[in-house]
Amino acid sequence: MSAFWQTKRLQEMSREEWESLCDRCGKCCLHKLENETDGLVYYTDVACRLLDTETGQCRDYAHRHRHVPDCLTLDPAALEAFDWLPSTCAYRRLHEGRGLPDWHPLVSGDPDSVRRAGHSVAGRCVHEGPDVDPETRIVIWPE
Ligand code: SF4
Repeated sequence: MSAFWQTKRLQEMSREEWESLCDRCGKCCLHKLENETDGLVYYTDVACRLLDTETGQCRDYAHRHRHVPDCLTLDPAALEAFDWLPSTCAYRRLHEGRGLPDWHPLVSGDPDSVRRAGHSVAGRCVHEGPDVDPETRIVIWPE
């Protein structure tokens, strides 16, 4: 029997299915820089202040907008606007018809498979702050 992410379009998924697609890599919680000339987006290793840099998880996901009002909510109807998501992101992968990788927890059955495959930011990022300049901290995260 096929899994829901193989048979349903993103717009057809239930809230629970949609939320379960997030592999919790934490990459979308990193600061990004956009080149004004060519529009290319560069990732850094500088994290949102609400991210736990050791676990790579949001410290208050349910109430994150109270702490960080401009934190974006992914919307299935507006995925075209989320081309800044990392190429490994499950939402972007499915939107582009690339399926889920074998390290995704829904495929592996193991939440830690993301970290083992090198796709979690846990322990690999720092918090924003006056001494941390994102422009000097551009990182190429693994594809
Ligand atoms: S980049 Fe995508 S898969 Fe990773 S934490 Fe963000 S929404 Fe979830």
